[in-house]
Amino acid sequence: MKNIFDTKIEYLKGVGAMRAELLNKELGVYTFGDLLEQYPFRHEDRTRFYKINEVIDDSAYVQIIGRLTNLQSVGDGRSKRLAGFISDETGELELVWFKGAKWIEKKLKVGAWYVVYGKPQRYGYKLSIAHPEMEEYDPSAPKPKTGGLQPVYHTTDKMKNKGMDSRNLAKITRTLLEKVYHDISETLPNYLIEENQLISKGLAVAWTHFPKDLNTLEQAKKRLKFEELFFLQLKIIASKVGKKTDKFRGQVFGQIPTFNIFYKEHLPFDLTDAQKRVVREIYNDMKSGFQMNRLLQGDVGSGKTIVAFMCMLMALDNDAQSALMAPTEILSQQHYNGLKPFADAMGVTIELLTGSSKTKDRRRIDETLRDGSLKIIVGTHALIEDKVDFYNLGLCVIDEQHRFGVAQRAALWKKKSKAKPHMLVMTATPIPRTLAMTVYGDLEVSIIDQLPAGRKPIITWHKFDKGRLRVFGFIREQVELGRQAYIVYPLIEESETLDYKNLEEGYEAVSRAFPDYKVSIVHGRMKPADKDAEMQRFADNKTQIMVATTVIEVGVNVPNASIMVIENAEKFGLAQLHQLRGRVGRGAEQSYCVLMTKDKLSKDGKVRIQTMVDTTDGFKIADADLKLRGPGDIEGTQQSGVLDLRHADIGHDAALLQYVRGLAEKILDEDPDLTKEEHQIIKHQQSLLVKKSVTNWSRIS
Ligand code: ADP
Ligand code: MG
Repeated sequence: MKNIFDTKIEYLKGVGAMRAELLNKELGVYTFGDLLEQYPFRHEDRTRFYKINEVIDDSAYVQIIGRLTNLQSVGDGRSKRLAGFISDETGELELVWFKGAKWIEKKLKVGAWYVVYGKPQRYGYKLSIAHPEMEEYDPSAPKPKTGGLQPVYHTTDKMKNKGMDSRNLAKITRTLLEKVYHDISETLPNYLIEENQLISKGLAVAWTHFPKDLNTLEQAKKRLKFEELFFLQLKIIASKVGKKTDKFRGQVFGQIPTFNIFYKEHLPFDLTDAQKRVVREIYNDMKSGFQMNRLLQGDVGSGKTIVAFMCMLMALDNDAQSALMAPTEILSQQHYNGLKPFADAMGVTIELLTGSSKTKDRRRIDETLRDGSLKIIVGTHALIEDKVDFYNLGLCVIDEQHRFGVAQRAALWKKKSKAKPHMLVMTATPIPRTLAMTVYGDLEVSIIDQLPAGRKPIITWHKFDKGRLRVFGFIREQVELGRQAYIVYPLIEESETLDYKNLEEGYEAVSRAFPDYKVSIVHGRMKPADKDAEMQRFADNKTQIMVATTVIEVGVNVPNASIMVIENAEKFGLAQLHQLRGRVGRGAEQSYCVLMTKDKLSKDGKVRIQTMVDTTDGFKIADADLKLRGPGDIEGTQQSGVLDLRHADIGHDAALLQYVRGLAEKILDEDPDLTKEEHQIIKHQQSLLVKKSVTNWSRIS
């Protein structure tokens, strides 16, 4: 069956061979269907005319009717420009041209009336419009019709040079719509359209290009976003459902007596509700018969370790061993120290294995891992070496997920087990829930979004560089109370030498300012062993102030450190600021974070700093980050399909995403293979989407 949307674009009236080639090469538009999907990236509001005295700021495009009262060249050399004034009965406004003056001077007539269209900009206290669109206008004729919302399409320089601009695109798109409007088929079942008060697909496409007003544009966008997110979620959820096959059989951890004893008798505190929920989620996975692949997100200090330990007890109760892998020796040491008391209390064997384990210990560990008497092993990459062999590895816990690749995760899977071990990946870098459930197609997501009771939130201040002396004064107060301080300097790859100079100078300044205290310095150029040793000295309170680069982002836990000063804080991203701040606030004392910046901050810089001052909630920060930067920079987004979204925006459409995900889940629950009559339309659209992504790929390569 030949589909009209597959018709080659050159067959559209007004296109022809030359333009078709431009459309192919510049926009990747080959067919009628492709052109229809070249949506405008914004609309110009031509729905009303402004009086000049109504133009009070530079927030939006405006359309004005007035007389050109003056036109002349001003300035010399580089600042040479053509300037004129447009005036109406309420005032006058400046117009300027920096380019094409000759041509414009010839075309425009002083004294004539024009419809002027453009975006005002503020220069000092004055507003002016640069390079306005000018259309001559006869004041004796009836007022010109307003143009409504005009679509603005993306075009390239090459297209413009050949006379093909946004207006041309609008024109051919209108021609196309008139021709094919009735062929645009619906993609969603009727009941979804009705329940959610959506407009039809055809109307949505038409109105996205040529809305009648802002309201119809809104409705069109809502419909297209809904559809886009719905099919994305459907795909992701279906791929998870598909994993419940023999290939992904997991060990069944059904009986959990030791876990129960620990929970009832040995737990030193009450779990937070969030921890309880997560433990339940994990248990449900581990007894399901299928391999668990779960991401556990929780802010620093939210208590992930104890959750991991309790899951290890579930494994132990079912004749399986557990491994906990951390990215550095010092972190695995810390985990080991943290788990040992719990393990001892339960009479459970636990050992630490790193690159620097002694041969004697190593031999014992290898042996007991193999005969199954060792139940819990904590360590670094050393765990995934080939020679490390297990009796039956049942659960792998990986801390600080972003530092391990997928390949390393896979290496753990291959260890000796009765069935694929369950995987629990822990991270303290929260990403927004909506993004997580979209990005981690292969992982279920659990979130601990609650800190244990009684924690004092860290107090955060923003200070300018000129206030450094007072900040030093504050550090002194804290250190005199017996606390410790971090002072962090940024490290930027391009100017490494310069940054080390900054760090060195900072170190000297701090040493001079605090002659009676000991100051540590730690940075990425140090040998790992020296770095660890210096961190340990700080942890043991042998030094009171730690001057460092971001290498301390993942570091030892020093509960006595209560103040974190971040120099040039404007140079850090939100995620990193949050991570750094998490180094303090681990003890019982009130902790502080001071963000030092230069006086002048960019707009984004201001938002970042203010966000940090306003909240310590990692998820709120992650949301703000997503809104500022978009999803592109967040790990894992590349393969997820999130970046291909054309209508929805994960940062701003989180609520809608969550909602359609629920719908998609419900549909697949009730009708996993989409066999019901009313779901045929979904199935059909899915196959079209698959086909389309295949063509797109073949075009790229
Ligand atoms: P993270 O999530 O950063 O790994 P940890 O697991 O290291 O956090 O926990 C931080 C501290 O909080 C530890 O000392 C831990 O024993 C303690 N902790 C964990 N859960 C609770 C809780 N429910 N109530 C009180 N303290 C808790
Ligand atoms: Mg931790």
